[in-house]
Amino acid sequence: MIKALICALVLVWTAVPSQAQTQTGGAAKEIVQRQVAPDLYFLYDETSSYSAFLITDEGVLVVDTRQHPRDGQDLLDRIRKITDKPIKWVVNTHFHGDHTYGNSVFKALGANIVAHEDTARIMAQVADKEFARRQPFFKARHYDPGEVKLTLPNMTFSKDLTIKLGGREVHLAYRGPGQNPGDTFVFFPHARAVFTSGAFGRRSMPNMNFTPSPENWVKLLTDVANMDVDVVMPPHGDIATRADVTDLAAFISYEYATVKKAVAEGVPLDTGLKTLDFSAHKDWHHYTGRGNDIKGLYELIQTGQRSYFK
Ligand SMILES: [Zn+2]
Repeated sequence: MIKALICALVLVWTAVPSQAQTQTGGAAKEIVQRQVAPDLYFLYDETSSYSAFLITDEGVLVVDTRQHPRDGQDLLDRIRKITDKPIKWVVNTHFHGDHTYGNSVFKALGANIVAHEDTARIMAQVADKEFARRQPFFKARHYDPGEVKLTLPNMTFSKDLTIKLGGREVHLAYRGPGQNPGDTFVFFPHARAVFTSGAFGRRSMPNMNFTPSPENWVKLLTDVANMDVDVVMPPHGDIATRADVTDLAAFISYEYATVKKAVAEGVPLDTGLKTLDFSAHKDWHHYTGRGNDIKGLYELIQTGQRSYFK
């Protein structure tokens, strides 16, 4: 089993059909496209966000559309280098603008944009806040913020949805809130692969500002870690395995329990920010964001509220 897993990963890492360099404010960033199955591609844009696309005889399904219509157009151009089949489906895995601001490009082509009902609701509800927090990204890439058009899903689901396209099945799975209400996992059973929502990043601090339930987040990651897949494609960070998903579930449990204990002992937030120690994870991505996590958890534990959604 482990050997099979390693083989699958080696295949993933060695299949590099195209690489490109673009300029961002003088600094070169690399956008890398990998073929994870004969008909399934994964696009990394390391300083922004990731997407995937499935190509079938009947048309194309896209998962997440990147952080600006120009990046959405770049994604479309990359698909067009491989196929001229129509773009039938776009899936938005969560409400964050870095995964949905390319929607307008695909909407213009008549694609069905689908998301969990909470994702669609929150996209509309916090549109201004999301737009505000994306401004540094637009500036860094010299993108015109005025080109971004809020493009909501035209189709929603509440639990699970299976999309059939060109002889393939794609399963959209909702297991309750993770990092966000609406976090959707997109399974490609034929490729033994899953694209995760914001709920998973490999060895990455989780960002605790949006979740209504760290317990459910741990539970759904445990569910995903038990599923029959070899390749885990996250929305940011490195491609991963089920073991990485288990690691994050364990960290979230530990982080939540640590902060809950501090709150129960009456440790004020200011003190907690200085004394709560997560240095065993100092080599994780976004470790510098641990204060943000502590603050987010204090808010949730003390008030039961998520101020971002106010
Ligand atoms: Zn993101």
